[in-house]
Amino acid sequence: MKKVLVTGGAGFLGSHLCDRLVEAGHDVLCVDNFFTGSKANIQHLLARPNFELMRHDVTFPLYVEVDEIYNLACPASPVHYQHDPVQTTKTSVHGAINMLGLAKRVKARILQASTSEVYGDPEVHPQPESYWGKVNPIGIRSCYDEGKRCAETLFFDYWRQHQLQIKVMRIFNTYGPNMNPHDGRVVSNFIVQALQGQPITIYGDGSQTRSFCYVDDLIEGMVRLMASPPEFTGPVNIGNPHEFTMLELAQLVLKLTGSRSELKFEPLPSDDPRQRRPDISLARASLGWEPAVQLESGLNRTIDYFRRRIQA
Ligand code: NAD
Ligand code: UDP
Repeated sequence: MKKVLVTGGAGFLGSHLCDRLVEAGHDVLCVDNFFTGSKANIQHLLARPNFELMRHDVTFPLYVEVDEIYNLACPASPVHYQHDPVQTTKTSVHGAINMLGLAKRVKARILQASTSEVYGDPEVHPQPESYWGKVNPIGIRSCYDEGKRCAETLFFDYWRQHQLQIKVMRIFNTYGPNMNPHDGRVVSNFIVQALQGQPITIYGDGSQTRSFCYVDDLIEGMVRLMASPPEFTGPVNIGNPHEFTMLELAQLVLKLTGSRSELKFEPLPSDDPRQRRPDISLARASLGWEPAVQLESGLNRTIDYFRRRIQA
């Protein structure tokens, strides 16, 4: 069994990863500053002898002894990462430097939760890992996109310069239980609005597309990537290749919740990518991974979660 550090472990994806690693018997250290994460997501793990929680901001150095590091710390919702953009860049860049420094000192294998946002508003569709992207360096999404791109650069430089064992995972839009109801991302917004009978807020005309991966599929891909042979560094896309417009998503959420909420069209935020769909050929070939959960079934599980949260 390994000693595993999960940064951002109290967040949406981090909490599912902690669950998975604790169940597998690993000694898990969850580090989080609770900017967007919550203790409620990992409350049930606190009594487990192989789980430990530490409040810490990854922009500051961390001295612990571990075998593996999953670096997930970073707000992922545009609303939250744009709230304090300087801190967002620091979290991605200083956070990567600190975690890579830690990995180098203790000779740990380290995985970076990168993002499809490194492709920006893509001109190549679907996006393969070989595509370098089309990113605005000075826009309102840049703190996140460029922060994550710089983190990828640091990972590959530590790999070339210090022979670190790195794994870079480009995560496409993921949804599921433990998302913060006030997170601001599209799936949580639409479900919460539908359950509360509030208008469904569609930005722009709703023709922009995303491809939504259920969290269990995503965590399976993440764990497989960490366990992959040392020479496999990625970057590798992990996401669901079924693409939907935001209007289609809204209609599906209305159908599955039985809600009569109306659609409300609001201005499209600047630099909002028009389309996004992963090419997952590399994940299929190198990790034997592909998603198993269809959108309707994953949305039903997520709707159940938000129903319980809203009633509580
Ligand atoms: P989230 O906001 O729910 O979780 C992020 C966690 O990091 C939170 O618990 C937050 O409190 C913590 N955090 C933020 N700044 C920190 C700091 N400076 N120090 C310590 N902890 C800090 O988001 P998520 O959806 O769980 O995303 C996890 C990771 O995956 C992020 O790095 C994100 O960029 C990446 N990612 C997620 C998606 C997605 O669709 N969920 C897509 C692409 C990439
Ligand atoms: N969006 C929307 N209504 C909302 C929230 C988001 O129409 O209430 C749109 C947003 O403009 C984007 C897509 O949904 O085109 C996905 O947004 P999200 O914030 O979930 O993630 P992104 O992929 O943009 O980072």
